[in-house]
Amino acid sequence: MKTNPKNFSFAKLTCNLFGHKLEVSKNVTSHIHEYKCSKCGIEMTDTADGFLTRLTPKFKETNDYIAKIYKKRRLRQTKLANAS
Ligand SMILES: [Zn+2]
Repeated sequence: MKTNPKNFSFAKLTCNLFGHKLEVSKNVTSHIHEYKCSKCGIEMTDTADGFLTRLTPKFKETNDYIAKIYKKRRLRQTKLANAS
């Protein structure tokens, strides 16, 4: 299979040269975030190990799960703080 020249993207080329312009698109936890490049639209995410990687559907699923647990835990902590 040949690469399709129509898939060529100038935004992606500038990102390859100058790096992505990542903006936080979602806070999963206080130290795990999802990012989106404002130039080419690529999505990245922090992993639990502290790496930055492509946001695949699998990672999205994992992040949703982590976010749910994180919110629940935060809610419990807030409740405890209010009780004392
Ligand atoms: Zn980019």
